[in-house]
Formats: sequence, C-alpha cells, structure tokens
Amino acid sequence: MKQIPILMYHWFREEDAESTSLSPQLEITPQRFERQMQYLREKGYRTVSLDQALAPKERRRLPDRPIVITFDDGTLDFWEHARPALARHEFTATLFVVTGKVGGESDWDHALGEPARPLMGWEQIQELHQAGFEIGSHTETHVPLIDLSDEEVRRELVHSRETLFEKLGVAPNMLAYPRGFYYARHKRLARESGYWGACSVILGWRDLRRSDDYELKRMTVKGNESMLKFKARLALARRVRYEGRGFDPRPEAEGTTT
Ligand SMILES: [Zn+2]
Repeated sequence: MKQIPILMYHWFREEDAESTSLSPQLEITPQRFERQMQYLREKGYRTVSLDQALAPKERRRLPDRPIVITFDDGTLDFWEHARPALARHEFTATLFVVTGKVGGESDWDHALGEPARPLMGWEQIQELHQAGFEIGSHTETHVPLIDLSDEEVRRELVHSRETLFEKLGVAPNMLAYPRGFYYARHKRLARESGYWGACSVILGWRDLRRSDDYELKRMTVKGNESMLKFKARLALARRVRYEGRGFDPRPEAEGTTT
C-alpha cells in the first residue's frame, strides 16, 4: 500500500529576522518554503486533503504522487507567504484553525514566553475554504487535551466543529491535537465528536511503525534544515504504516453531518 506523506508546518520568519520563538525550528523562511514546494512539484507530487486521503476506496480519487501539506494554528503569515507559494505550484493545504481565537492572536503560550502571532480572520479562512483548502479543527482554545477533563475535551472538540460548520457551511472531518499531545481516550473522544481522523506530530524516527486514523503521523518540517534533510524527511514520511492497511476503507464516520 502506497503511503501518503503528511507534512507539518507552522509559521514563517523573514530571512534576516532573529527568531524570538521557543520553537524556532517551527519557523521557516518564505524562500526555503518556496524551494521545497518547487522540489515537490518537480518530483510530480500533487496535494490532496486529508479527507480525500482517508476516504473509502470507492470514493477516493488520488493522483499518482499524493502528498498532504498541513499548517497548524491559522496564523496570518500563512496568508502572506504560504498561500502565494502554494498557488504558484497549484498546491493546496490543510489548515488547522483554533476556532475561539480566529481574527485574534495566538496567545495561548504567551505566558511561557512564546510570542503571540496575528491570526487569520474568518473572511480569509472562508476564502481559502472556497479555493479548495481543507479547514480542520485545532480545537477551540489550543489547550493541550491531556490537561483537560473528558467533559472539557468534548466541549473543545464539539464546539470547534460546530463553529466551523456555522462559518463554512460544512463540518470539519479532521482534527489536530494541540501540541500533538493525546492519550488513547482522546482518540475515542475525537471519533465520538464526529471527526474522521486526527493528526499527531512526529519529529524523527521514533514510533513510525504503527498508527491509525486518530494518530495520523505528520512529519515535522524543521525550518532550519537543508534541502537534503527535507528530502530525507520526505522519505521518512512515507514509512509510516497505518495498522497494516494504509489509508484503506474504514467504517463510515458516525455522526458526520456532511
Ligand atoms: Zn498549534
């Protein structure tokens, strides 16, 4: 079974700017991102959404070399830098937005010292949705689910899904766990809240063997890495095995409203 690589990006940093982030590896320069997109295009990759990748076989139409490009948090620099670069190569992406913060700032880790970045507003998210970008939930407030009670988790998952349905006219199928943290019960809660799948995060070689739809292993593209490392990471992203079945048919999602 052909593995579909899932890449994860976050934020941008201008080439000559000093990073003030606690996670500078999550920032990439527009130039480097452009080179990576150009490489993917030249190699024949075509972007697909996660719900296309996860669709039951009979409804799944995939290009020869599918890839999923995801961005977390919905920051305004996606609009400024990623959108034009993706458009140049006829790519789209999957965006995970924090529904309770849209139009504001990513202030959820501000107390820890992470700078708050401006976030896209609903108009921009709606425009992206109309242009074929997949919009997923990154919960309501970005609090790590492992810090919440099950009842609170349920509220985060359900409410953010309802908000996206209200704003876009379609309920999101995909979830990204804030900071990639989850326990087994959060996979169940995600499923019960109507999501078809949920994204986790991998940084390196560990834990590549086993996965399933509620711990989709995304490969972190580190912004400070060379093209050589990017290519290695891409090869790595193809190695994840999804319970021995790849992205194969799964039961129809329960409680999906669209
Ligand atoms: Zn995030």
